[in-house]
Amino acid sequence: MNFDGMISVEEARARILDVVRRLAPETKPIAQALGQVLAEDVVSPVTIPPLDNTAMDGYAVRAADTDGASPEDPRTLRVIGEVAAGYLFEREVTPGTAVRIMTGAPIPAGADAIVPFEETDEPPGRTFGAFAKGRTEVGVFKAAAPGANVRRAGEDVLRGSVVMREGTELRAAQIGVLASLGKESVSVYRRPVVAIIATGDELLDLGQPAVEGHIYDANSYSVAALVEEAGGIPRRLGIARDTVEELTAKIRAGLDADLLITSAGVSRGDYDVVKDVLLREGEVDFWTVRMKPGKPLAFGTFRAPDGRRVPHIGLPGNPVSAMVTFELFGRPALYKMTGRGGWERPTLRVTVEERVENTDGRRFLARAIVRERGGRYYASLTGPQGSGILTSMALANALVVCPEDVPALEPGDEAEAIMLGPVVGDG
Ligand code: AMP
Ligand code: MG
Repeated sequence: MNFDGMISVEEARARILDVVRRLAPETKPIAQALGQVLAEDVVSPVTIPPLDNTAMDGYAVRAADTDGASPEDPRTLRVIGEVAAGYLFEREVTPGTAVRIMTGAPIPAGADAIVPFEETDEPPGRTFGAFAKGRTEVGVFKAAAPGANVRRAGEDVLRGSVVMREGTELRAAQIGVLASLGKESVSVYRRPVVAIIATGDELLDLGQPAVEGHIYDANSYSVAALVEEAGGIPRRLGIARDTVEELTAKIRAGLDADLLITSAGVSRGDYDVVKDVLLREGEVDFWTVRMKPGKPLAFGTFRAPDGRRVPHIGLPGNPVSAMVTFELFGRPALYKMTGRGGWERPTLRVTVEERVENTDGRRFLARAIVRERGGRYYASLTGPQGSGILTSMALANALVVCPEDVPALEPGDEAEAIMLGPVVGDG
């Protein structure tokens, strides 16, 4: 056991990130890989678009044939056929001729520009098949520059090029790009399974009737949601009473996970059966981190039956502390395990609108609402800041940082806000 002195947020995070490891890659169908991170560079097997093609419905022409055209003095071209997306036009566009063409269709040989229907005498509202119905001439109202409305082969992707790098998080657009390359599956880092255990004799699980003096287990649920947001797969193992038997059984049940998270029972000083069991079952340090909410934190590893070392984060029990410590330590750990690069949130410089007191020399993370007014950002508190007041988190879109050595932020002072959600706008 190691009861350190107080350590900084940065030191605690560095120690955790030093122990957790990125997980091994797995192959996933792209439709199931949303939110996962590429474990390979993706090289394109195809060129996109595969051929020069038209960006508009209209006529494929030789640009030179349209020189000087205007509505008063149109150029009349002979229509020699039609082509739609998915088909090739086999003949050549020779001087004085044109081909009716639909968006996405390959540019016929000889043509070098597309004149949209809007710039011809063709009445609107006609679709594919007009040529078959006897449309054999077209009047062009406007000169087309060579290349007009032509999408070039390879302007999106060249065969053999690296389209996405290892480490890229797959969002909707990346999934779309993979599909456009014809890739059915892709190598991504495995999502960590995170076992979550709440501890405490006072806790009720959802569905149990309210009992005087008891409270519902909030942490299992808030932490599971945070795990999911961070790219992990939460596995709630429920509540362990503060007995050696129950705690031991729950912890052992969690050791097939990639990360074990417990909440409560890690405060320094007080006797707590949780600490006893953590120490007996694993190699765990109990830290006091120079932050508020969330001073007590446990971190260690447990030996799984299969020999793996499973990292463990012991969050404090107070519901706000549990969420804030997960934000500062758990989320970065999961980001590393999932193969992401940075874990930092965006920050803003804000003007605080009310006094933020910070009496005990720790970094105070005030739950705040950041609003934009006239191009500047302002922060107000979400109400009482006790570490048990979970509604203060629910209202917040930011954590305003009052540094360790600053006893108070006064109205009008500038501070840093760690943004948890979108800024509230002017309107
Ligand atoms: P402890 O760390 O066990 O001293 O708990 C600190 C505070 O957090 C106590 O008020 C607990 O009742 C509360 N608490 C512990 N676990 C939970 C939980 N899962 N959900 C809500 N509150 C909790
Ligand atoms: Mg407790």
